[in-house]
Amino acid sequence: MSLETLSPAATASASTFDAADFDRCVMPTYGRFPLAIARGEGCRLWDTEGNSYLDFVAGIATCTLGHAHPALVDAVARQIQTLHHVSNLYYIPQQGDLAQWLVQNSCADFAFFCNSGAEANEGAIKLARKYAHTVLGICNPVIITANASFHGRTLATVTATAQPKYQQNFSPLVPGFHYVPYNNIAALETAIAQLDVSERQVAAILLEPLQGEGGVRPGDAAYFQKVRQLCDEKGILLLLDEVQVGIGRSGRLWGYENLGIEPDIFTSAKGLAGGIPIGAMLCKASCNVFTPGDHASTFGGNPLACAAALAVCQTLTQDNLLANARVRGEQLREGLRAIGHQYPSLVAEVRGWGLINGLEISAEAALTAPEVVKAAMDEGLLLVPAGPKVVRFVPPLIVSAAEVEEAIAILGRVFQDLVKGL
Ligand SMILES: *Cc1c(COP(=O)(O)O)cnc(C)c1O
Repeated sequence: MSLETLSPAATASASTFDAADFDRCVMPTYGRFPLAIARGEGCRLWDTEGNSYLDFVAGIATCTLGHAHPALVDAVARQIQTLHHVSNLYYIPQQGDLAQWLVQNSCADFAFFCNSGAEANEGAIKLARKYAHTVLGICNPVIITANASFHGRTLATVTATAQPKYQQNFSPLVPGFHYVPYNNIAALETAIAQLDVSERQVAAILLEPLQGEGGVRPGDAAYFQKVRQLCDEKGILLLLDEVQVGIGRSGRLWGYENLGIEPDIFTSAKGLAGGIPIGAMLCKASCNVFTPGDHASTFGGNPLACAAALAVCQTLTQDNLLANARVRGEQLREGLRAIGHQYPSLVAEVRGWGLINGLEISAEAALTAPEVVKAAMDEGLLLVPAGPKVVRFVPPLIVSAAEVEEAIAILGRVFQDLVKGL
């Protein structure tokens, strides 16, 4: 839909946006940049004042097809005109089509749909616990997660998220979680052995294939292969949180394809419907212990969200977006590394897979990721921090060579200016 088709009222309200009015009644749960976005097209956004930005945030790794993509616009417009919501009391054909696409294109056999990443992880946690009780005969199951992980903001997922800053003041947290360092097999083996003797038996290990919020840290393939082996030996379930890295962002459809393993259960959300709210929990047939009544969601898998997700999945395939993510990702990392070579005292490392990349600022540099993000925003490039010292680059998977080049040129200017002020 172009701006011309919006009602005059909608465009007027955007141009008279007042942040003070907003802050008077919206609960202050976010630290916001002083920017209100009015519209988008492709990898570009325009604010309410008419300034344009190159969008390397994509709703935080969510707008897979960028903004106003014709395939997504068409699918959503058609579906909302036909049937946008109906209860899971009835069969929803679009949900079946999406589940079929997902199981045909992954290691999973079944899919459950909900509305967000946290909800998908809640579903995975519940499934793992029921499996522990009914199959493994564990009455006090523990799920191991990794330090610096991020799994969501609900009580169970914030407990799974092993970062104190997200948990502070929300105790009592949910029992049954234990934390280990990421990419460290010896620490994991020790933790499992210690939990076994304390009669809090390990039922599952929940990991991100690449830690997104925790600083864009790719999983180590050798580590994940050993985790898989350990899980097989001990009958432990391997759960992967693919909420940020899944659906092509890593240059492969699923993050686990970069690691040479398959999970028993995994979750998806952010990029799955390109920005229409959806979550999915997928599992192999061998670990599906859910029966009618065990788990549910009013909105989960409704026709609108599933039609949007199907359009994203089909476009990924038809337009070869996985290959684009790999090639453009390589181009982006090369450009970021060139900036790193120019400013070796500021840039510690550039890392990532496909189109999820991080530039880590040196610990010694008097510069933070939010400062770089703010400076880039002022130059027309939107970026997002992943922790205090990592700048994250997660553009839409449709990003072009020229747009990647433009982003690197802007960032080069930003560093040039920032170094003057240090
Ligand atoms: C964003 C994110 C979540 C939480 O998703 P919500 O949709 O915000 O609930 C969970 N896990 C990972 C890895 C994420 O990046």
